[in-house]
Amino acid sequence: MQDLLDYALKNGIILQEKGNCQFCGAEVTGGVIECHNQVHHLADMVDFNNPAYYVTRFLSVDAMALQHGELHGPWNNHIHLTRLHLILKKKVTWTYAKTPLLSNIINQYKKNKTEVLTPPPLTQRGNLTTSDLIKITSPAECVAFVRQWAQEVYTSFNQHQALVATIADEFLVTYY
Ligand SMILES: [Zn+2]
Repeated sequence: MQDLLDYALKNGIILQEKGNCQFCGAEVTGGVIECHNQVHHLADMVDFNNPAYYVTRFLSVDAMALQHGELHGPWNNHIHLTRLHLILKKKVTWTYAKTPLLSNIINQYKKNKTEVLTPPPLTQRGNLTTSDLIKITSPAECVAFVRQWAQEVYTSFNQHQALVATIADEFLVTYY
């Protein structure tokens, strides 16, 4: 959370502290900060140390990051969207060890490039948000919710899917 506040400050992004989340549209009263606090509900529902829930963790991190894509370094969006492509479209069983490998591919890819993967318009990044997430009451519901949430976010980034598909293919060719 502090990272996010620091990043916004450094980049001149004004964070609204009241009303709905200005980025994902979550229906809250305390703005983007309350939106981010709501994500902790996931860890109350499932044990993220259990490998059975690793994919739920990865998908939730990607969905959340992409719905708030202005609040981190621009190349992070490439990483999160490519990982969604690999998990959702290519059916790759993701593990913690694979994330640094994907970072390697992105680092190669971004050499001499300045492109920005612009997120969809504010609040049009999937219908599901953290205000739906906090209504979850069971681990099974959590797993299903997060997959649907990630799928909606992935779909909302459709104008960048062809681009990340090429990066994903590079990952698969290199490591599989
Ligand atoms: Zn939000």
